[in-house]
Amino acid sequence: MQIIDGKKVSAQVKEEVKNQTLELIEKHGITPGLAVVIVGNDSASRVYVNNKKKACEAVGFKSEEYALPEQTTQEELLSLVKTLNEKADINGILVQLPLPKHLDDKAVIEAINPEKDVDAFHAVNVGKIMLGEYDFLPCTPAGVMEMLHSYDISVSGKNCVVIGRSNIVGKPMAMLLLHENGTVTICHSRTKNLAEVCSHADILVAAVGKPKFVTADMVKEGAVVIDVGMDRDENGKLCGDVDFENVKDKCSFITPVPGGVGPMTIATLMKNTLKAAKLQNNIFD
Ligand code: NAP
Repeated sequence: MQIIDGKKVSAQVKEEVKNQTLELIEKHGITPGLAVVIVGNDSASRVYVNNKKKACEAVGFKSEEYALPEQTTQEELLSLVKTLNEKADINGILVQLPLPKHLDDKAVIEAINPEKDVDAFHAVNVGKIMLGEYDFLPCTPAGVMEMLHSYDISVSGKNCVVIGRSNIVGKPMAMLLLHENGTVTICHSRTKNLAEVCSHADILVAAVGKPKFVTADMVKEGAVVIDVGMDRDENGKLCGDVDFENVKDKCSFITPVPGGVGPMTIATLMKNTLKAAKLQNNIFD
């Protein structure tokens, strides 16, 4: 069994982004800029936003944070997005989800200029991903693919099972595995015989949001297990969707939580922002 080290792979990705950013600044005088918008006081969102800001600093981007109060109206938020769409030194706009309940996530995402939608959540970018002709890939699924590549894990012809069908993880994850010629099954809360379906997976991706949901009986001997979950166990400790201790010895490869998919998500965000800066300045390399 080999543990897939997301910290190590993400550090490599960020190093590459940093080098390319230096080159962009030196050759073209362009510093990529990311605006992160956070509304309200959700503590998990606060941690994610801080991590994104730190990553921007580490790779040499300019980052701007817009922390809006809980009672911000839809109109105010849309007005900020419009301003950021027009700001030339901002290449990527990220609105941290979830938003407070009175705000409409979908309308806010659709208001972001697709060229600045570095999360790849806008319908235009989602459509491009379906067609396989994308500029940006959604950060978490793309981060998973990067880890698979980094460990020379081939997807072609493999039985891939994704548990979860959210728009931000499950569905695009399935699509990226399909693009690499995996035979993909998507499972969800209405799936019958889930354990049986999972037990045929060569590559099993868990994106459920339930601590230690994937147990050893659901995992085939020698499978690659990717744990997207960011959950809390009974003691409030961060854990994944996979019962790591009991599953790990059955796997050929497994991602830990923390230190697996999480760091890759941020690294991909940096890659997307760099790409956005290049595309918006007609730099194609
Ligand atoms: P989500 O929107 O809540 O989706 C969860 C999915 O799991 C749904 O499709 C749901 O099915 C399915 N599900 C729930 N209970 C199930 C069951 N008993 N059997 C089979 N399927 C079941 O969550 P998400 O946003 O995709 O996130 C999933 C997890 O990934 C969370 O722990 C989240 O914190 C984590 N996450 C991590 C990162 C990262 O950077 N590492 C990024 C994003 C998310 P239905 O559709 O039928 O309801």
